[in-house]
Amino acid sequence: LYPEWREAMQKEINALEENGTWSMVELPEGKKALGRTFETIDPRRGEIIARIAEGDKDDVDLAVEAAREAFDNGPWPRLPGCERRRLMMKFADLIDEHIEELAALDTIDAGKLFHFGKAVDIPSGSAIIRYNAGAADKIHGQTVKMSREMQAYTLKEPIGVVGHITPWNFPTQMFAVKVGPALAAGCTMVVKPAEQTPLSALYYAHLAKLAGIPDGVLNVVPGFGHTAGAALSSHMDVDMVSFTGSTEVGRLVMQAAAMSNLKPVSLELGGKSPVIIFNDVDVDKAVDIALQAALFNKGEICVAGSRTFVQEGIYDDFIRKLQVKMKSWVVGDPFDPKVTQGPQVDQKQYEKVLSYIELGKKEGATLLMGGKPLEGKGFYIEPTIFTDVTDDMTIAREEIFGPVMSILKFKTIDEAIKRANATKYGLAAGIMTDNLNIANTVSRSLRAGVIWINCYFAFNVDLPFGGFKMSGFGKDEGLEALDKYLHVKSVATPIYNSPW
Ligand code: NAD
Repeated sequence: LYPEWREAMQKEINALEENGTWSMVELPEGKKALGRTFETIDPRRGEIIARIAEGDKDDVDLAVEAAREAFDNGPWPRLPGCERRRLMMKFADLIDEHIEELAALDTIDAGKLFHFGKAVDIPSGSAIIRYNAGAADKIHGQTVKMSREMQAYTLKEPIGVVGHITPWNFPTQMFAVKVGPALAAGCTMVVKPAEQTPLSALYYAHLAKLAGIPDGVLNVVPGFGHTAGAALSSHMDVDMVSFTGSTEVGRLVMQAAAMSNLKPVSLELGGKSPVIIFNDVDVDKAVDIALQAALFNKGEICVAGSRTFVQEGIYDDFIRKLQVKMKSWVVGDPFDPKVTQGPQVDQKQYEKVLSYIELGKKEGATLLMGGKPLEGKGFYIEPTIFTDVTDDMTIAREEIFGPVMSILKFKTIDEAIKRANATKYGLAAGIMTDNLNIANTVSRSLRAGVIWINCYFAFNVDLPFGGFKMSGFGKDEGLEALDKYLHVKSVATPIYNSPW
């Protein structure tokens, strides 16, 4: 680990040995509102990692006040874009220098695979910051010739103070996709990370400060949703809320925004994404992709391919090959490079997933494999596969957010499209076929924000991401995300005696 980090960790470990808990509590100097703390838990053992400052309404007020002051009177929104870009690039470089400890924080806090975090999660976080940094000095309006006597232009201005509310399943990417474009736009902000995983967000705030991003621009208030999150979304001095989380809470956020100052909201919500596999595919390849689609990140991913539709001609072969493939799936400590699945994020999520598995059995699906928790400490669940799943079963309708794959059989293309669309969600979908016409027909017909053909989880910083229907609206990633944080102002002026 990074030497500075090792020293800091050693201090915390000493405190842990003396007191039985870690003592990492940092509150704003002189201005602490409540001074309460809450525990963040390591899902590998169900033990306390640290006590974190618990922000409530009063703390949110302080953070919004700081962000307001930084927006109204501070340098950040007034800097030339190239200067914001320079500081953001520095921030991204610092993230890269601290990959190891950031990946470790997301592993101990969220149970994520450490080696994957080091190779993908954290580098993609810095890539998102860098991409948006590159856009910071390319924010331009238009000129409009209204008539011979009138000339106009548009200005793109930062929207103001933004409240970001994030979930726990990808602490780093969620932080980066929210903060990156908002910083580039010239906004100031308050981030409320998920209460289950506040550690890396606090570390990112520390790195942003080291990079020279001015005080008050990026504030992090850890705390609970019904207190800190609700205070942020109903705050009269917050100009926009960017939310990622469940559809249920997204509705509360939108309601709070409407009932306070009518601030715009962007919502990235839940999903129940279909993966449709046609008869003509290479079955081995389809098994690999469908398996990852359903089980990657222990199923804790909004775009999880949690409904696997397999055409009847290859159904039996698919199931047989899937069983063979699952032999190399390893559940265990996410620091171990051989492990493919770590623990669920917390006790609540663990119990929720197990209750869905029970429902699957009760409602008549066939349990092909898994279905049980692992013995011993920690929130580990066996990868679970159900076959003979029908559209009306709860496991085919509701978002489980756990390592549960549900396999459904279909006959025709039209049937697959109809059944895949029969959900309140519309986040993502996978199609597997070598037939170009089927791929194009199905991708045009599916009501989902992202379609992956012969692949899955093909994310990139320059590819807009976001859902349809009750999976939300507004895009994260791509230049569309930057637009969310910009107001367009139209300025018109007369021209006298122009011959043109
Ligand atoms: P959640 O909705 O329970 O919590 C998300 C965030 O909202 C947390 O920070 C939480 O503290 C906060 N919150 C809770 N109640 C609140 C309230 N009343 N007012 C304001 N904020 C409140 O979701 P979760 O369990 O953290 O995450 C899982 C969900 O997130 C799943 O549904 C998943 O599909 C979704 N998700 C979506 C995307 C996407 O991009 N579409 C990405 C990741 C996760």
